[in-house]
Amino acid sequence: MRLTEEFTLRQAVVTCPACNRTFSTPHLANMPVITQDTPIETDLHRALPNGAIRAALIGLCRGCGYAWWITVFKTEEILPNSLTADEYSLERTQYPRKFANAFLTGRQNGAHHRELALLALNGHWCAREAGLPHERWLDLAAQEMGKALRDRDWTGNRGYYHYLMGEICRQQRKFKEALEHFGTVDFQSRLPRELILRQKVQATAGDSSPTRLPPYLVELIFCPRRSRKAFPL
Ligand SMILES: [Zn+2]
Repeated sequence: MRLTEEFTLRQAVVTCPACNRTFSTPHLANMPVITQDTPIETDLHRALPNGAIRAALIGLCRGCGYAWWITVFKTEEILPNSLTADEYSLERTQYPRKFANAFLTGRQNGAHHRELALLALNGHWCAREAGLPHERWLDLAAQEMGKALRDRDWTGNRGYYHYLMGEICRQQRKFKEALEHFGTVDFQSRLPRELILRQKVQATAGDSSPTRLPPYLVELIFCPRRSRKAFPL
């Protein structure tokens, strides 16, 4: 199976920040920019054409077991040849496992529940992109996002994460909880009102399916420079 031409994976040599070993790992060398036609779902993630691409976002040191976002690993060298998914160094079933390793690393290092929730969400999306079971990942994301939102000391963009939690609940068929979370999203989330109203309608209708955003909402949320005048908030 060939990756699409727009996404390019290469092999990179990186250094582990925990034990200083160097090892090679797949590296996402090119990702096409987002346009209104980019497939983005209502939980605000970009649907990738292959689980190998999302898995490349995580570095995993086989020496000490440390795993985290690839950006914390120092890149020593990027090798010239691009990889196909078949040449990726892991089996398909191992793609989401990299997120499991990162989740454990985060837990061991006291990462905030928001970070753990985002890792679990990425594990969920990666498993879907690899054609693997993914429901337990969603449950894990719900647990961690719930803990993050109950942390009154956490001062992040709470409205944005209430929206994400609403989407997690909707996809878990917990529609009443989804509506409660959507109801707490305020203007500070910087999410368009149309999006919140749309997802309230979907939850009220008892629809738990993953759903693509319509192009005009992709434009509003992800291409704000081109559409600032139309931004409703
Ligand atoms: Zn290491």
